[in-house]
Amino acid sequence: MSLSAPSEESTQPTIQRELTAEEAALLELVQAPEGEGRAILDAATREVLGRAPVQTVADLEDAIARAKAAQPAWDALGHERRSEVLLAAADAIDANAEALARILSREQGKPLNGPNARFELGACSAWLRSAATTVLEPEVLVDDEQTHAELHYRALGVVAAIGPWNWPLMIAIWQIAPSLRMGNTVVIKPSEYTPLSVLAMISVMNEVLPPDVLIGISGDREVGARLASHPDVDKVMFTGSTATGRKIIESSAGNIARLTLELGGNDAGVVLPSADPQAIAQDLFWGAFINTGQTCAALKRLYVHESIYDDVIEALKSVAEQTPMGEGLDEANVLGPLQNKQQFDIVNRLVEDAKAHGARIVTGGAPAPELGELFYPITLVADVSDGTAIVDEEQFGPVLPVIKYSDVDEAVARANRLEVGLGGSVWGDPQEARAVAARIQSGTVWINSHGGLHPAVPFGGVKNSGYGLEFGVAGLKAVAATQVISG
Ligand code: NAD
Repeated sequence: MSLSAPSEESTQPTIQRELTAEEAALLELVQAPEGEGRAILDAATREVLGRAPVQTVADLEDAIARAKAAQPAWDALGHERRSEVLLAAADAIDANAEALARILSREQGKPLNGPNARFELGACSAWLRSAATTVLEPEVLVDDEQTHAELHYRALGVVAAIGPWNWPLMIAIWQIAPSLRMGNTVVIKPSEYTPLSVLAMISVMNEVLPPDVLIGISGDREVGARLASHPDVDKVMFTGSTATGRKIIESSAGNIARLTLELGGNDAGVVLPSADPQAIAQDLFWGAFINTGQTCAALKRLYVHESIYDDVIEALKSVAEQTPMGEGLDEANVLGPLQNKQQFDIVNRLVEDAKAHGARIVTGGAPAPELGELFYPITLVADVSDGTAIVDEEQFGPVLPVIKYSDVDEAVARANRLEVGLGGSVWGDPQEARAVAARIQSGTVWINSHGGLHPAVPFGGVKNSGYGLEFGVAGLKAVAATQVISG
């Protein structure tokens, strides 16, 4: 293995900022030895944070073989004991939460404060505890004089978990927690952009889990492709782009792996004439800009009734101007950089294209190099219409197109015209909003908020946003094999 630069070159000096002793100890457990591995940059400062191990397909073969060998004993522990072990793993995450949040903040870019790094660690613990304590009982299907039939949920075997770089720890837990709870073992491949934080959390969990029940593998797309298609993998939990999701569907023809696919979205929000612009501005803002817009189910297109269009834009602008952006380790900041150059370039291209098509930039609209190489300010794009790239493509960054409409039926049709359907929201009088919500084609529709999740409430997309549900009882069923006992 050799120390190679990441796929994107940094123009900044490679000086290691001071790590706390706890951060350094955790990184030391997971990173490649000095002089080896792949350099991982701090997203805000572009300094080298550490070295990700570069594991190969041969390492993956070994990992899957070990996970397969460990699965029967893990399953045989039974639900009660597994639940205790998973709760102990959640305690271990809590005990290391601050150090993990700091590594996450550096590697991903998200600030410690706001709905960001510390919040993400809190969610990891909460979702793990929920999966540990949620009970999936066998169901009695028929019970009469002739037949007694029950539906049982058993372990599937080895689960492959493949994740993105935006909420790397929380999404890893969404995949790991239900899988382990049901008696499966897990091989997880984090995104090559954010491997260190995920490997660090896995190493913390492995302080209490039996050996080989949860194995992290740090590799590239080739390793991901082999993991998804491996004959000894029984289920793939994938969160990432629709393009990669399609490849995983194709490879599942080979191993007949069950799939849960959480793919991209382009969530619409519809603001009804009955909404109060001032009252909804904060929630609209965070619905769009949580994690600096790098969130699958963030508000990505906002349709506002013409009667309050200017007021909503003014209210959003005012929140944007009061919300600090900068380096994540600075306690004052609640917005950060884009995580990587590729995503930064997408955001920049979409805003430039909107300008070229005559859109009005209300605030932001150009990179903010004074904050750092990958910073892009909150950008509100007005007087823009469907069919422009900023509306039709997923921006996955701190930019929101705000589109004027005059008729609610027209707004619903426009919200539904794209081939994705992860989330959506309707803002205004709650009763009126509920009626409109039923007509939006997405896996979740929120009323007067956008993007809030709960560990007991199922989450999943429709259309090209994927299939399969996560969380709660539905999430446990998704990582289980069904067995009917009849007699
Ligand atoms: P991506 O699809 O490029 O990568 C995701 C993961 O897949 C990475 O770990 C990558 O190494 C791996 N991978 C790449 N090619 C593979 C292959 N052929 N087989 C198996 N694995 C492969 O996505 P990304 O850029 O990391 O994430 C951004 C996208 O993810 C956005 O579109 C966003 O909307 C979506 N996303 C969706 C959700 C959700 O819950 N629906 C959550 C977060 C992100």
